[in-house]
Amino acid sequence: MSMNTQGRPTAAVETDGQSTAFESFSGHRGLRLAEPLIFEMDREDTTGVDVEEVGDFDLEIAGLGRDSKIGCPGLPEPDVVRHYTRLSRKNYGIDMGPFPLGSCTMKHNPRLNEKMARLPGFGDIHPLQPISTVQGALELMETLSHWILELTGTPAVALSPKAGAHGELCGVMAIRAALEARGDAREVILCPESAHGTNPATAAFCGYKVKSIPAKDNGRVDIEALKQSLDDTVAAVMVTNPNTCGLFEDEVREIADAVHAAGAFFYCDGANFNAIVGKARPGDLGVDAMHLNLHKTFSTPHGGGGPGSGPVVFSDALKDYVPLPYVVKTADGLTLKEHADDKDPSMGRLVAFHGQMGMYVRALSYMMSHGSDGLKQASEDAVLSANYILASLQDVMTASYEGPCMHEALFDDRFLKDTGVTTLDFAKAMIDEGYHPMTMYFPLVVHGAMLIEPTESESKNNLDQFIRSMRGLVEEAKSGNVARFSGAPYFAPMGRLDETQAARKPVLKYEAAE
Ligand SMILES: *Cc1c(COP(=O)(O)O)cnc(C)c1O
Repeated sequence: MSMNTQGRPTAAVETDGQSTAFESFSGHRGLRLAEPLIFEMDREDTTGVDVEEVGDFDLEIAGLGRDSKIGCPGLPEPDVVRHYTRLSRKNYGIDMGPFPLGSCTMKHNPRLNEKMARLPGFGDIHPLQPISTVQGALELMETLSHWILELTGTPAVALSPKAGAHGELCGVMAIRAALEARGDAREVILCPESAHGTNPATAAFCGYKVKSIPAKDNGRVDIEALKQSLDDTVAAVMVTNPNTCGLFEDEVREIADAVHAAGAFFYCDGANFNAIVGKARPGDLGVDAMHLNLHKTFSTPHGGGGPGSGPVVFSDALKDYVPLPYVVKTADGLTLKEHADDKDPSMGRLVAFHGQMGMYVRALSYMMSHGSDGLKQASEDAVLSANYILASLQDVMTASYEGPCMHEALFDDRFLKDTGVTTLDFAKAMIDEGYHPMTMYFPLVVHGAMLIEPTESESKNNLDQFIRSMRGLVEEAKSGNVARFSGAPYFAPMGRLDETQAARKPVLKYEAAE
């Protein structure tokens, strides 16, 4: 084995699986530490803080007194610190390595954004503070709106929705408000087969029937089928562009025209905006409403359910229905318009206050530090990275569609045919290589989908290492080494979990053993 100058091996040490087969005495395996729940480590007689003995006082407030233990775990401080440090090391994140999860845009989050978000004038303010004391924060919202309107080419934006799915809800509610205002009760929303699950879910949540539009062989919306489904019952069409197969809907103008000719609205799912920032403006493509995922396109650590921010941009046809509150200029400076007056057709309020201030700061910091040229370059580099992966892997894996892709490369499982290895197995084996797996089994329109989104923030070195690992795994699968896949992950604290059970019956509450 060759060693580097510090005496460390330069290549992975061969293990045959045997060396990890023995049980350790501690439950730990090397640096993969077993970690119980903090409640399981609890010792009643221990505390990490010195609390003074309390004197005599009446333990009952309003006749209510605690008769059981409070239930907080008792641990010395070093054990608390170790517990959370160990937990944090079990977490895979973009700061650990590439996170090629398609449709999620897991990019590097510049630390500058964090520094800005922690400025006391942004980080320590409260939504109920007098408006005169938060003028800077309102100005930031105003400036962010300006950048969003410039980048999307639209006349209005609602900042308050707190995620992409929430933005979809906001957009479809505006569409419903506009239709109601013209006394037009339409009941159907059309979604392409490849749509993200949140699109039909939003439509159904707003009381619409969902009708599916098929895709063509080239992975784009079948525009003839779309036209045939358009009639005076259709309220809106929801299309993602670039779509969830990583392809640009090149007939998007024609789609918009057909939708408008039928008196319907064009909702665009803008979660994939990272591919086209500075290159194409949704306003020019005929879009009536589109959410942006600030936490995808404009950075911010995300995943595991938060935090997010999903501002929605609107066309002239919908801009009167934007939700409250929004920033307005008055003679005394900036203020939030909190209440609708008689003439205001606003849909009302979607969130308690004004939305995710921390996200606004991070997004604006990202935009301003990149500048318009930098944002455009980020999109170009994201598309280049994805195409580099597509071009480097398509001789051994099966690309689902011909031609170049946008910001993500879609493969399916035809290359695994007769190997006994499934998409799931393949993804689990990637964990043993130190990678977060790509998105699997989505979009549903291709069999055993593998959707890889490298983003612009992976260097060529990182992409090359990823490609080498993927090619290595493909070779292993094709050479019949099924065990490497079916038992994977071998090098993770947990092996295969029952993910269906975990999703359907999550255990969210700790119950002490009797
Ligand atoms: C991420 C995503 C959404 C949902 O956004 P959230 O912020 O997770 O609610 C919707 N559509 C597409 C295509 C997405 O990738």
